[in-house]
Amino acid sequence: MANKEIRILLVEDEPSLIFTLRDTLESEGYEVIVSEDGEQAVGLAQEHKPDIMILDIMLPGKNGYEICQEIRSLKFTFPIIMLTAKDQELDKVKGLDIGADDYITKPFGVKELLARIQARLRRAGTYSSSNNIEVLQLGTTKIDLLESKAIFSDGKTNELTAREIELIRYLLQAGGEPVSRDELLEKVWRYEYSTNTRTVDVHISKLRAKIESQPDEPRYLITLHGVGYLLKTY
Ligand code: CA
Repeated sequence: MANKEIRILLVEDEPSLIFTLRDTLESEGYEVIVSEDGEQAVGLAQEHKPDIMILDIMLPGKNGYEICQEIRSLKFTFPIIMLTAKDQELDKVKGLDIGADDYITKPFGVKELLARIQARLRRAGTYSSSNNIEVLQLGTTKIDLLESKAIFSDGKTNELTAREIELIRYLLQAGGEPVSRDELLEKVWRYEYSTNTRTVDVHISKLRAKIESQPDEPRYLITLHGVGYLLKTY
Protein backbone atom coordinates (compact mmCIF):
# COMPACT_ATOMS: atom_id res chain seq x y z
CA MET A 1 0.00 0.00 0.00
CA ALA A 2 1.03 3.58 -0.64
CA ASN A 3 0.81 4.44 3.04
CA LYS A 4 3.65 2.12 3.99
CA GLU A 5 6.62 3.89 5.49
CA ILE A 6 4.55 6.94 6.35
CA ARG A 7 4.95 7.60 10.04
CA ILE A 8 2.39 9.42 12.13
CA LEU A 9 3.13 10.81 15.56
CA LEU A 10 -0.13 10.92 17.51
CA VAL A 11 -0.01 13.14 20.58
CA GLU A 12 -3.16 12.45 22.56
CA ASP A 13 -3.92 11.54 26.17
CA GLU A 14 -7.42 10.12 25.89
CA PRO A 15 -7.13 6.30 25.97
CA SER A 16 -10.28 5.55 23.97
CA LEU A 17 -9.31 8.00 21.23
CA ILE A 18 -5.76 6.64 21.10
CA PHE A 19 -7.15 3.15 20.74
CA THR A 20 -9.54 4.07 17.93
CA LEU A 21 -7.07 6.23 16.02
CA ARG A 22 -4.17 3.83 16.29
CA ASP A 23 -6.36 0.98 15.11
CA THR A 24 -7.73 2.94 12.15
CA LEU A 25 -4.44 4.47 11.07
CA GLU A 26 -2.57 1.18 11.30
CA SER A 27 -5.24 -0.58 9.29
CA GLU A 28 -4.69 2.11 6.63
CA GLY A 29 -1.03 1.06 6.57
CA TYR A 30 0.46 3.98 8.50
CA GLU A 31 3.09 3.49 11.13
CA VAL A 32 1.79 5.04 14.35
CA ILE A 33 3.80 6.34 17.28
CA VAL A 34 1.85 7.56 20.29
CA SER A 35 2.81 10.17 22.86
CA GLU A 36 0.32 10.30 25.73
CA ASP A 37 2.24 13.02 27.41
CA GLY A 38 3.01 16.56 26.28
CA GLU A 39 6.51 16.45 27.71
CA GLN A 40 7.54 13.49 25.58
CA ALA A 41 6.09 14.69 22.28
CA VAL A 42 8.98 16.85 21.04
CA GLY A 43 11.57 14.23 21.99
CA LEU A 44 9.63 11.54 20.14
CA ALA A 45 9.41 13.81 17.08
CA GLN A 46 13.19 14.29 17.15
CA GLU A 47 13.77 10.59 17.58
CA HIS A 48 11.29 9.23 15.04
CA LYS A 49 11.07 12.07 12.48
CA PRO A 50 7.41 11.57 11.63
CA ASP A 51 5.92 12.53 8.28
CA ILE A 52 2.96 14.14 10.02
CA MET A 53 1.83 14.90 13.55
CA ILE A 54 -1.69 14.71 15.01
CA LEU A 55 -1.61 16.97 18.05
CA ASP A 56 -4.17 17.34 20.81
CA ILE A 57 -4.22 20.68 22.65
CA MET A 58 -5.11 19.75 26.23
CA LEU A 59 -2.38 17.40 27.39
CA PRO A 60 -0.57 16.62 30.62
CA GLY A 61 2.86 18.20 30.88
CA LYS A 62 2.87 20.56 27.93
CA ASN A 63 -0.02 21.77 25.80
CA GLY A 64 -0.38 21.41 22.05
CA TYR A 65 0.43 25.07 21.33
CA GLU A 66 3.74 24.85 23.18
CA ILE A 67 4.61 21.61 21.42
CA CYS A 68 3.76 23.07 18.02
CA GLN A 69 5.93 26.13 18.66
CA GLU A 70 8.85 24.00 19.78
CA ILE A 71 8.58 21.74 16.75
CA ARG A 72 8.64 24.73 14.41
CA SER A 73 11.51 26.41 16.26
CA LEU A 74 13.47 23.19 15.72
CA LYS A 75 12.79 23.70 11.99
CA PHE A 76 10.78 20.52 11.56
CA THR A 77 8.52 21.10 8.59
CA PHE A 78 6.25 18.06 8.70
CA PRO A 79 2.55 18.93 8.71
CA ILE A 80 0.79 19.29 12.05
CA ILE A 81 -2.95 18.73 12.40
CA MET A 82 -4.31 19.96 15.73
CA LEU A 83 -7.23 18.38 17.53
CA THR A 84 -9.40 20.96 19.24
CA ALA A 85 -12.34 20.48 21.56
CA LYS A 86 -15.54 22.28 20.61
CA ASP A 87 -15.15 25.04 23.18
CA GLN A 88 -11.62 25.77 21.95
CA GLU A 89 -12.71 26.76 18.47
CA LEU A 90 -11.58 30.34 18.90
CA ASP A 91 -8.05 29.12 19.45
CA LYS A 92 -7.82 27.63 15.97
CA VAL A 93 -6.43 30.89 14.71
CA LYS A 94 -3.76 30.76 17.38
CA GLY A 95 -2.89 27.21 16.31
CA LEU A 96 -2.48 28.18 12.68
CA ASP A 97 -0.50 31.26 13.69
CA ILE A 98 2.13 29.25 15.47
CA GLY A 99 2.72 26.84 12.62
CA ALA A 100 -0.01 24.20 12.64
CA ASP A 101 -1.24 23.36 9.14
CA ASP A 102 -4.76 22.30 9.89
CA TYR A 103 -7.14 21.58 12.76
CA ILE A 104 -10.06 19.29 13.30
CA THR A 105 -12.73 19.70 15.96
CA LYS A 106 -13.64 16.90 18.36
CA PRO A 107 -15.70 14.86 18.05
CA PHE A 108 -14.73 14.09 14.46
CA GLY A 109 -15.27 11.20 12.09
CA VAL A 110 -12.27 9.03 11.41
CA LYS A 111 -12.86 9.36 7.67
CA GLU A 112 -12.57 13.10 7.93
CA LEU A 113 -9.27 12.81 9.76
CA LEU A 114 -7.95 10.36 7.17
CA ALA A 115 -8.88 12.74 4.38
CA ARG A 116 -7.13 15.64 6.13
CA ILE A 117 -4.02 13.53 6.69
CA GLN A 118 -3.88 12.54 3.03
CA ALA A 119 -4.42 16.12 1.89
CA ARG A 120 -1.60 17.39 4.13
CA LEU A 121 0.81 14.66 3.06
CA ARG A 122 0.05 15.40 -0.57
CA ARG A 123 0.82 19.05 -0.01
CA ALA A 124 4.00 18.24 1.85
CA GLY A 125 5.19 16.43 -1.24
CA THR A 126 5.10 12.88 0.00
CA TYR A 127 2.97 11.87 -2.96
CA SER A 128 3.79 14.58 -5.42
CA SER A 129 5.13 13.89 -8.86
CA SER A 130 8.61 15.02 -9.81
CA ASN A 131 7.25 17.93 -11.86
CA ASN A 132 5.55 19.53 -8.95
CA ILE A 133 7.74 18.67 -6.01
CA GLU A 134 7.56 20.98 -3.01
CA VAL A 135 9.71 19.01 -0.61
CA LEU A 136 12.56 16.83 -1.72
CA GLN A 137 14.02 14.26 0.63
CA LEU A 138 17.73 13.57 0.15
CA GLY A 139 18.49 10.93 2.74
CA THR A 140 17.78 12.54 6.08
CA THR A 141 17.96 16.04 4.63
CA LYS A 142 14.81 17.81 3.54
CA ILE A 143 14.97 20.31 0.70
CA ASP A 144 11.99 22.63 0.92
CA LEU A 145 11.72 24.00 -2.60
CA LEU A 146 8.94 26.42 -1.74
CA GLU A 147 10.62 27.89 1.33
CA SER A 148 14.07 27.63 -0.31
CA LYS A 149 15.67 25.80 2.58
CA ALA A 150 17.75 22.72 3.20
CA ILE A 151 16.87 21.25 6.58
CA PHE A 152 19.20 18.68 8.10
CA SER A 153 18.00 15.98 10.49
CA ASP A 154 19.56 17.82 13.45
CA GLY A 155 17.51 20.91 12.62
CA LYS A 156 20.37 22.82 11.01
CA THR A 157 18.97 24.88 8.15
CA ASN A 158 20.61 26.46 5.11
CA GLU A 159 18.91 29.10 3.01
CA LEU A 160 18.99 28.45 -0.72
CA THR A 161 19.03 31.10 -3.41
CA ALA A 162 16.47 31.26 -6.19
CA ARG A 163 19.17 30.13 -8.64
CA GLU A 164 20.03 27.14 -6.48
CA ILE A 165 16.37 26.13 -6.38
CA GLU A 166 16.20 26.45 -10.15
CA LEU A 167 19.31 24.33 -10.46
CA ILE A 168 17.82 21.62 -8.24
CA ARG A 169 14.57 21.67 -10.18
CA TYR A 170 16.36 21.41 -13.49
CA LEU A 171 18.49 18.47 -12.35
CA LEU A 172 15.42 16.87 -10.78
CA GLN A 173 13.55 17.10 -14.02
CA ALA A 174 16.38 15.21 -15.72
CA GLY A 175 15.33 12.24 -13.59
CA GLY A 176 18.79 11.24 -12.39
CA GLU A 177 20.39 11.55 -15.83
CA PRO A 178 23.52 13.69 -16.08
CA VAL A 179 23.17 17.23 -17.41
CA SER A 180 26.09 18.97 -19.11
CA ARG A 181 27.51 22.30 -17.96
CA ASP A 182 26.56 23.84 -21.30
CA GLU A 183 22.97 22.76 -20.90
CA LEU A 184 22.82 24.16 -17.36
CA LEU A 185 24.32 27.39 -18.60
CA GLU A 186 21.70 27.61 -21.30
CA LYS A 187 18.65 26.52 -19.29
CA VAL A 188 19.37 27.77 -15.78
CA TRP A 189 21.55 30.80 -16.49
CA ARG A 190 20.07 31.51 -19.92
CA TYR A 191 23.51 32.68 -21.12
CA GLU A 192 23.63 35.74 -18.93
CA TYR A 193 26.64 37.91 -19.66
CA SER A 194 29.93 37.08 -17.97
CA THR A 195 28.87 33.52 -17.24
CA ASN A 196 30.78 30.49 -18.41
CA THR A 197 30.96 26.84 -17.45
CA ARG A 198 33.13 27.82 -14.49
CA THR A 199 30.09 29.71 -13.12
CA VAL A 200 28.21 26.43 -13.11
CA ASP A 201 31.00 24.65 -11.23
CA VAL A 202 31.20 27.37 -8.58
CA HIS A 203 27.44 27.28 -7.98
CA ILE A 204 27.34 23.51 -7.87
CA SER A 205 30.00 23.40 -5.19
CA LYS A 206 28.25 26.10 -3.15
CA LEU A 207 24.96 24.23 -3.43
CA ARG A 208 26.66 20.99 -2.51
CA ALA A 209 27.98 22.58 0.69
CA LYS A 210 24.42 23.57 1.56
CA ILE A 211 22.61 20.30 0.91
CA GLU A 212 25.15 17.52 1.48
CA SER A 213 26.09 16.27 4.95
CA GLN A 214 29.59 15.58 3.61
CA PRO A 215 30.18 17.94 0.69
CA ASP A 216 33.62 16.41 0.05
CA GLU A 217 32.00 13.05 -0.56
CA PRO A 218 28.69 14.01 -2.14
CA ARG A 219 25.98 11.39 -2.21
CA TYR A 220 23.30 13.27 -4.12
CA LEU A 221 24.75 16.10 -6.19
CA ILE A 222 27.21 14.10 -8.23
CA THR A 223 29.92 15.19 -10.69
CA LEU A 224 30.42 12.97 -13.70
CA HIS A 225 33.82 13.97 -15.00
CA GLY A 226 33.74 15.04 -18.59
CA VAL A 227 29.95 14.73 -18.69
CA GLY A 228 28.30 17.07 -16.20
CA TYR A 229 26.22 16.85 -13.07
CA LEU A 230 23.38 14.74 -11.83
CA LEU A 231 21.07 14.73 -8.86
CA LYS A 232 20.42 11.38 -7.22
CA THR A 233 17.27 11.33 -5.11
CA TYR A 234 17.78 8.02 -3.34
CA1 CA B 1 -6.58 15.87 25.78
